[in-house]
Amino acid sequence: MIDSNRLRIAVQKSGRLCDGSMDLLKAVGVKFSLRDRLLIAHSTNQPVDLLRVRDDDIPGLVMDGVVDLGFIGENELEEKMLERQAAGKSSEYKVLERLDFGGCRLSIAIPSEDEYTGPEWLEGKKIATTYPHLLERYFKEQGINASAVMLNGSVEVAPRAGLADGICDLVSTGATLEANGLEEKEVIFKSKAVLIQRADELSDTKQLLVNKYLTRMNGVMQAKESKYIMLHAPRTVLDQVKSLLPGAENPTILPLAGNDEQVAIHVVSTETLFWETMEKLKALGCSSILVLPIEKMLG
Ligand code: ATP
Ligand code: MG
Repeated sequence: MIDSNRLRIAVQKSGRLCDGSMDLLKAVGVKFSLRDRLLIAHSTNQPVDLLRVRDDDIPGLVMDGVVDLGFIGENELEEKMLERQAAGKSSEYKVLERLDFGGCRLSIAIPSEDEYTGPEWLEGKKIATTYPHLLERYFKEQGINASAVMLNGSVEVAPRAGLADGICDLVSTGATLEANGLEEKEVIFKSKAVLIQRADELSDTKQLLVNKYLTRMNGVMQAKESKYIMLHAPRTVLDQVKSLLPGAENPTILPLAGNDEQVAIHVVSTETLFWETMEKLKALGCSSILVLPIEKMLG
């Protein structure tokens, strides 16, 4: 049973967004024991229920207010929004956070033997896709008369099967395209996973809970990009060392026991320290240079 006082979150049951979404929930302190294949999972430590569905269903569940939050790829979200707008259904939602996983692009690809001359090549052509609304929007923006052929799967074999002249599909590395004799020609949409919230107001209790998770989520994402850097440096080159360290405006400088010539420098950096910089630091006489990952950050 679903309890309306508990926060309802829709996540992809299995697929490319599943691990990223579940890892993020875990990192902000929401635990589940997903032993079973059930549609609904109750958190064991927070007032949160998960609705585990196909990613295609997530935008609609949020836009219809059936769930409070959803983790979804922007490609699917935008496509469903256009589809619902065309059908006169509600298509409102709020984006809470753009996330650091699920990155891909929606691209037009054509057989490698065809000579592509630019978007005008598409004029009068048939392009197979699972994203007809995004593709048609692109045709419109480019002033091209072409048709989108809707296919739910195996889009990449459509040109060889004689069903279409080209395809419009998601790409991350391009290996699938290459394996099917296709070449990427136009990127029409760049996507990442996002966390969205239903457009109407949540109860105060639920919104406070969402805000708390968001703050924690930001801390987790910021920590992933940051490093804790420690090193020993000769006092005489402190200024040179500081100018080499990324984001080291206010480093912590500590004395070293029994060593007046050197100090320890600790700094939280928003970038990693590259080998080249570490080598320059070493050449300045620095030693014990450590770059450590940070798990969580707050404030
Ligand atoms: P479902 O059974 O839930 O409908 P699906 O087959 O539609 O699954 P997946 O292949 O798991 O979906 O992809 C889900 C989302 O992951 C995509 O909509 C996209 O936002 C993102 N994604 C990231 N990289 C890729 C990629 N290389 N190919 C496809 N999707 C990708
Ligand atoms: Mg899907």
